Amino acid sequence: MTMRFSTKAIHAGQHADPTNGAVMTPVYLTSTYAQPELGKNKGYEYSRVSNPTRDALERNIAALENGRHGMAFGSGMAAIDAIFHLLKPGDHVIASDSVYGGTYRIAKMILEDYGLKFDFINMTHAADVEKAIKKNTKMIFIETPANPTMEITDLHAIATIAHEHRLTVVCDNTFATPYLQRPLEHGVDVVVHSLTKYLNGHSDMLGGIVVTNSAKIAERLRFLQKAIGGILSPFDAWLCLRGTKTLPVRMERHGKSAMLIAKWLERRKKVKKVYYPGLATHPQHRLAAKQMKNFGGMISFDLGSYGAAKAFLKHLKICTLAESLGGVETLITHPATMTHASIPVEIRNKIGITDGLVRISVGLEDVEDLIADLKQALR
Ligand SMILES: *Cc1c(COP(=O)(O)O)cnc(C)c1O
Repeated sequence: MTMRFSTKAIHAGQHADPTNGAVMTPVYLTSTYAQPELGKNKGYEYSRVSNPTRDALERNIAALENGRHGMAFGSGMAAIDAIFHLLKPGDHVIASDSVYGGTYRIAKMILEDYGLKFDFINMTHAADVEKAIKKNTKMIFIETPANPTMEITDLHAIATIAHEHRLTVVCDNTFATPYLQRPLEHGVDVVVHSLTKYLNGHSDMLGGIVVTNSAKIAERLRFLQKAIGGILSPFDAWLCLRGTKTLPVRMERHGKSAMLIAKWLERRKKVKKVYYPGLATHPQHRLAAKQMKNFGGMISFDLGSYGAAKAFLKHLKICTLAESLGGVETLITHPATMTHASIPVEIRNKIGITDGLVRISVGLEDVEDLIADLKQALR
């Protein structure tokens, strides 16, 4: 039977236990599985290779992305690392210059030492991406909306260019989640998520997942799960399965509250600039409206200086100063010194990550309380 998104969020990949009827997928805390005889097993051998709880989560999120294969890892970074392991020394990757700081770090500080080549470029104009393609280019790595300036990349346009050149296109879909945006439907080959954020949604585990329709890529990623071992634990898979069930209702509320807060921030004199794809002033507002269901729960705004940002953050009472995003609680970060500290200052300034920039992950609290908190801290 075909299922719509919220039905899939609750049911896809899961079934009542055939032996006892348990409705919720149990946490299979087992490293190994009894084999009835030599050369036979019941589908499982060892939990680094596969585990029933992890399998259920992998099927669930693959279904939400409208993809065939899901492979879960112990963190978003472990998932991204596995994707780069699809490449060989000498291969070139074009990545967005506003990717997650950790993606930049693993590329520059680890993978370049193993012979991969990276160019980080602005991807707002698809033609610039085409110009950056070299003979040895094998992959394009997109993140949209991008972190923290909420830059939007045209998934369909980039996927079209990539396929003309036989390149693999990857999209980090962490900020949008499959509820707001499904990159595979726009022609992207590989979707990656930090489960740590909205998909789990409760700030109580770390995880990552890769989803693809390509049997060849999936087979290699499964081999990497087994060979390298950066897999998601059964307990964390169970927590995340619990999270994905409420993803649609959470994303609706995150988006609604974020829109109200973004509009409120835009009217404040002390706020120099607001970055939110839902605002008509956002340079790619129309593209965001085209490829996303709503504009998500992430806003950045510029208070003009490090001193102003520091004073503001110090006075917040409900919003918590902490890295990460996508939880039920509102979190605020200072990208220049926290999430994006590993990006050189010249690049940071070029892409708008100034010392006065503050990023807010709008939680599920009453939006009136959040605005009151922001208001008193601004004062
Ligand atoms: C957090 C994050 C990651 C890394 O995920 P972890 O689970 O922290 O390893 C990757 N991409 C984006 C966009 C993120 O926000």
